[in-house]
Amino acid sequence: MSIHAPEVANKILLDEGEMPKRWYNIQADLPFPGSPPLHPGTKEPIGPQDLAPLFPMELIKQEVSQERYIDIPSPVQDALRLWRPTPLMRASRLERELKTTAKIYYKYEGVSPAGSHKPNTAVAQAFYNKAEGTKRLSTETGAGQWGSALAFATKLFDLECMVYMVRISYEQKPYRKSMMHVWGAEVVPSPSDRTQVGRRIRAENPESTGSLGIAISEAVEDAATRDDTKYSLGSVLNHVLMHQTIIGEEALLQMERAEAMPDIVVGCVGGGSNFSGLAFPFLRDRLQGRTKTRFLAAEPEACPSITRGKYTYDFGDTGEMTPLVKMHTLGHSFIPDGIHAGGLRYHGMAPLVSALVDHGYIEGVAYPQRSVFDAAVQFARAEGTIPAPETAHAIRAVIDEAVKARERGESPTILFNFSGHGLLDLAAYDAYFAGTLSDVTLSQARIQELVGAL
Ligand SMILES: *Cc1c(COP(=O)(O)O)cnc(C)c1O
Repeated sequence: MSIHAPEVANKILLDEGEMPKRWYNIQADLPFPGSPPLHPGTKEPIGPQDLAPLFPMELIKQEVSQERYIDIPSPVQDALRLWRPTPLMRASRLERELKTTAKIYYKYEGVSPAGSHKPNTAVAQAFYNKAEGTKRLSTETGAGQWGSALAFATKLFDLECMVYMVRISYEQKPYRKSMMHVWGAEVVPSPSDRTQVGRRIRAENPESTGSLGIAISEAVEDAATRDDTKYSLGSVLNHVLMHQTIIGEEALLQMERAEAMPDIVVGCVGGGSNFSGLAFPFLRDRLQGRTKTRFLAAEPEACPSITRGKYTYDFGDTGEMTPLVKMHTLGHSFIPDGIHAGGLRYHGMAPLVSALVDHGYIEGVAYPQRSVFDAAVQFARAEGTIPAPETAHAIRAVIDEAVKARERGESPTILFNFSGHGLLDLAAYDAYFAGTLSDVTLSQARIQELVGAL
């Protein structure tokens, strides 16, 4: 390997002043009508007033806005500049190792204080809540990435933060809980005894290890029953996806600078926010007929909502308290197996991503977890940075596309979202090396049973 200056730029940076100052709202450009959220009781389309107990009015407006661009308030810009713009990297060592004719770029979101893309929306949500007089935010977290992002953001904007953390993660993954404590949040294992829904589930099943769907019900109930508290969600909703588009707007500028526009854009999908954040600004060009870029969303075989779920109206939570939204879903009673990509264990998918999958703009692909860790380790050994298990799903897809390109003698440019680093997920790597990781695939009969009930 050469020790001379690399022949390609490995890192493309933007100055602070070049950070985009507005978000892109893809709702303005969709070539098909949206499907409105429905009231959980009446099953009629909901209005802004139905959401007012849970969210500040500005976020409710963004949720349904048809404006193509929304200005990022300057206090949010100031908060984002703590770690943004983030670097765009060329994975040239991985390219060489794969002997691929493809060019591989990634947007590195692991530089944020919480180590992932999630603070991009957390700081925006904390700001709008503070501006409208909210004193306290409640939320749920699975493995702890979203809880830690919101704990950080609420501290910046001087709000209290209450986190319902899925019990199994609370017990098995203590360090993200430690981060939340550093940033001043209160964290309880879910199901808890703080809420009616938590008490009911504990009465039915005292051993319950919890799930994201249960924790969402608890956090929603907390916010709905207190005047000083609103609820905050880290993915799925339209406004959350929009806040993440700063990733793709930066990446567009950086790819232009690298003189390399992507043929394939890749991301992992849990609720769909990091994927959308990178993809939507590039999808804008495809929707307007200027490009033929492919969009590839990678998910776990253990929780395959877009590749095998049903596109239908479903609840966002187990307790049937949230509005019904039209999405790819495995059913709101689905509790996925304990794979290590905690951030990808959600039964549903963002309605915007689901609609774009349904209309053929986004392709889905699902992987078993061992092959995902093969890719993660191969990446870390070539490029250095250790990916989060969630991110590793995107890397699996990228490596497969790069190998296909080599076999076909094609040379596409691939861009993926490196959604977070894996430095708090090292136990999962230990399990991989110890050979104790198992591959869990959901049977068709089980999917049928879950979605048949909807
Ligand atoms: C939460 C998380 C995800 C999955 O959530 P999305 O909303 O689909 O982006 C992916 N990667 C990392 C590092 C995460 O923390």
